[in-house]
Amino acid sequence: MAINPKHSRPGAAILDAVRRAARQEQFLEVVSAEEARRRFDACIDRSPLPAESVPLAAVLGRVLAADAIAPVDAPPFDRSNVDGFAVRASDTVGASDGAPKRLTLNAEVIACGVEPAVEVLPGTATAIATGGVMPRGADAVVMIEQTELIEEGPAIELRRVATSGQLISYAGSDIARGETLLRRGTQIGSREIGMLAACGFAAVDVARRPRVAVLSTGDELVEPGRPLRPGGVYDSNGAIIAAAIVEAGGEAVPFGAFPDEEVALELAMRNALDSCDVVVLSGGTSKGAGDLSHRIVARLGKPGILVHGVALKPGKPLCLAVIGDKPLIVLPGFPTSAIFTFHAFVAPLIRARAGLPPEAAKTVTARVPVRVASELGREEFVLVALVDGAEGLIAFPTGKGSGAVTAFSQADGFLAIDALASALDAKASADVTLIGDSIRAPDLVIMGSHDIALDVVVGALIERGFTARTIAVGSLGGVHAASRGECDLAPVHLVDPATGIYNRHLLAPGLALVPGWRRMQGFIFRPGDARFEGRSADGALKAALADPTILMVNRNAGSGTRVLVDGLLRGARPPGYANQPRSHNAVAAAIAQNRADWGVAIEPVARMYGLAFLPIAPEHYDFLLVEARRGRPAVQAFLDGLRDEATRARIRALGMEPADQPSI
Ligand code: AMP
Ligand code: MG
Repeated sequence: MAINPKHSRPGAAILDAVRRAARQEQFLEVVSAEEARRRFDACIDRSPLPAESVPLAAVLGRVLAADAIAPVDAPPFDRSNVDGFAVRASDTVGASDGAPKRLTLNAEVIACGVEPAVEVLPGTATAIATGGVMPRGADAVVMIEQTELIEEGPAIELRRVATSGQLISYAGSDIARGETLLRRGTQIGSREIGMLAACGFAAVDVARRPRVAVLSTGDELVEPGRPLRPGGVYDSNGAIIAAAIVEAGGEAVPFGAFPDEEVALELAMRNALDSCDVVVLSGGTSKGAGDLSHRIVARLGKPGILVHGVALKPGKPLCLAVIGDKPLIVLPGFPTSAIFTFHAFVAPLIRARAGLPPEAAKTVTARVPVRVASELGREEFVLVALVDGAEGLIAFPTGKGSGAVTAFSQADGFLAIDALASALDAKASADVTLIGDSIRAPDLVIMGSHDIALDVVVGALIERGFTARTIAVGSLGGVHAASRGECDLAPVHLVDPATGIYNRHLLAPGLALVPGWRRMQGFIFRPGDARFEGRSADGALKAALADPTILMVNRNAGSGTRVLVDGLLRGARPPGYANQPRSHNAVAAAIAQNRADWGVAIEPVARMYGLAFLPIAPEHYDFLLVEARRGRPAVQAFLDGLRDEATRARIRALGMEPADQPSI
């Protein structure tokens, strides 16, 4: 809403809202993470919830509430491992090719599940199947392949000595009765279910899963699946937190997203407290206008809010409360902050109540390639992607800010920067806490500018069994990574302002330039905008510069498109010039949403946003190749992909023109 006193007299309510938004309420008391944890732990019960008996068929993923003691032996009897004959080893002493031993066959064949009736007396043998019960008297089994049947008798002849115990599994050799089969706290997988079934368990006692309510708040939130309205944001926290609760051993109870409306939200929170063991709410914590969760929490009951404000980045607005005996956590709304604080404060609590042991942190040591600045006074966590370097692992900050949803999925782990440090210096070594189980060292590392056609080439590579990691650091970031040898390929699209030639000026010793594809850049505007409709790009630009009410959207310095824009403007600085987003998508979104009227972007992006496009000049999207890595199979497969006709057709279908590939 535009508030401009010159044009209209705003209502008192609006002025009041503006005053409230402008007043920067401070957090009453920001405490350290340790202090926050200490206060929280002092007020909550972390013991496993009472056990419940669950049938084996439904027990996958649950946590054993008590040690499972084997009530029977497995195998339950001495068992033959092969098809053959049960014998007395002493009868076979001296058997050889020259002096075979003959044993008379008993009138019995021991199949599986049959209880033997005849004793194996000296000089006799009994036919036995794999899994058959060893008969009384026998102490070894000989394989059928190593015997010869003698029809008269009938009897068998042995040409080898059998040792006592050979080819027998003794009762209890797999699982011994009375043995601790599985310990409490074990999360039950398919193998554990197999062991339990082998011991005859039809059901086991598992810890009750904590029921954890998940609520989101924010006037802007839209449920996934519904159309996004202007200003709307999909409720991603609700989904990610519910899934993370299940991963931590809890049962997620989704309550959905609520507008920032005190009455409805308070009612939902009270319902959640009544029906669940733990309540997790995200959003509405930052004490700005419309942020109200903490106000509601403050009146839900005793002991109430224990912590509001933790010296963590991301995650400062975290609010920890206990109502009666139930923990209630309000996570910051920004997705990266929400999931960080969830893992730091909520997941351990859910694990404990679910009966799971604390998760052991797995760390590796890595070097940061660039200086990472950090705020003084708050312990800062930086998500990083790990890449193999010449001297060990390198940790690249995935650097998208606490509002990013993808920061977590693109990271291998995170490192912490001490509250008292203002930066981590370039080349410093740091402990990286892994997020997954292990480091996924990719076959191919691509660092630089991202493009949708790149996904096509990488997709083709993955279909051929390679793994690839793309880290979007922009063209210049790619140039630096390639010159330091930290990636295999760096996608770039930078123009040399002196010559107007793309990418060639980025070459340095050890690097080669591999042509990629051409993306047509043009003047973009909303279709139907009569000021531009029907004109050439040149005419549209003249029209834009002639009217001071027309707003442009620029590009960031250093981008190839910015060089083009500056060339077109020839020193002119039309309104909106200072608005300099970093991607074609952001330019198109600004125009589609009426925040600007024109800009320069590539054709496929303009089309994706339903905008009109007047072509100007192609942009060259190429790859800097680190020569030392050219021989790697994944690099070769990538280069093959650029030459492959099917891949090139798919790139064309996206509106790009693949460049000619030099033959090697
Ligand atoms: P808040 O904590 O309510 O001040 O929200 C801070 C930021 O997080 C805002 O940009 C919100 O749009 C965003 N946000 C809050 N809740 C969610 C959610 N459930 N899903 C995605 N983004 C959210
Ligand atoms: Mg909000």
